[in-house]
Amino acid sequence: MRLQRFAAVATATALAFGLTACGSKDSDGGSDAGAGSKSFAAGSTMERLNKAQSIKVGTKVDQPGFGLKGLSGKPEGFDVEVAKIIVKELGIPTDKIEFVETPSKVREDAIVNGTVDFVVATYTINDERKKRVAFAGPYYEAGQNILVKADDAGITGPDSFKDGTKKVCSVTGSTPAENIKKSVKDVATQVVLFDTYDKCITALDGGQVNAVTTDNVILLGYIAKNQGKYKLAGDNFTKEPYGIGVKLEDKDFRTFINDTLEKSFQDGSWKKAWDDTAGKFGAELGAAPAIDRY
Ligand code: GLU
Repeated sequence: MRLQRFAAVATATALAFGLTACGSKDSDGGSDAGAGSKSFAAGSTMERLNKAQSIKVGTKVDQPGFGLKGLSGKPEGFDVEVAKIIVKELGIPTDKIEFVETPSKVREDAIVNGTVDFVVATYTINDERKKRVAFAGPYYEAGQNILVKADDAGITGPDSFKDGTKKVCSVTGSTPAENIKKSVKDVATQVVLFDTYDKCITALDGGQVNAVTTDNVILLGYIAKNQGKYKLAGDNFTKEPYGIGVKLEDKDFRTFINDTLEKSFQDGSWKKAWDDTAGKFGAELGAAPAIDRY
């Protein structure tokens, strides 16, 4: 009960919380940036953003390696670097990006309502979400896994929750939260949901839950940040292809982002983005995924 109340308050806080524009002197601002330095089709989202020379990008801020608010107050990670690749291609300096925190549950709303221009936030492409938003990508394929304390030998995979005795934490509106419900005996007592993953980690530390479940790469970020404290409980048991969320009807912007991703797979910028961020945490990049131009 206390956890649920805390989660409700935390969700409201997260919704109200938006990071302000970076305002830093990024060295990677892009020498080709600037209005007029690129030309885009009249009336397109690309033209509008290039003319405005500003853009709002939805990311996570609590996920080491993908989107974690750094000491500078700006999020850092693979998703942030992928966003910068796209923004540079729009001819906008990356220090003009306003990063907006988009916890799992609010991503579709943030796109539909225009709170952000696109979302890069460990965002699994799936048919349910495609009813409300469109996805460019994928630019990475993760898989669901389980994180436990390093000395826990009792949880070895999703089947370990079937006896009804252990609690597992995940995030509201995420695919792993829905998926783990199939593996527990009693959802009401065993599945604890918050709005962000760092709250799940706090609940694990406090002994309120026995495990945290989400994508392997998010969990690997927490493992790397807390040497020796946690481990993965087994192998990945789902496929989570990460896409970039845009407005459902904006086919041109989606095509532009897909073209930009494909270019980044070729020119080394996608690999560099990985090596500089999540690649340091023991996860594999793998081969560039095939872009799905559905
Ligand atoms: N990739 C999964 C999802 O989009 C889990 C990670 C997250 O919550 O961002 O739901």
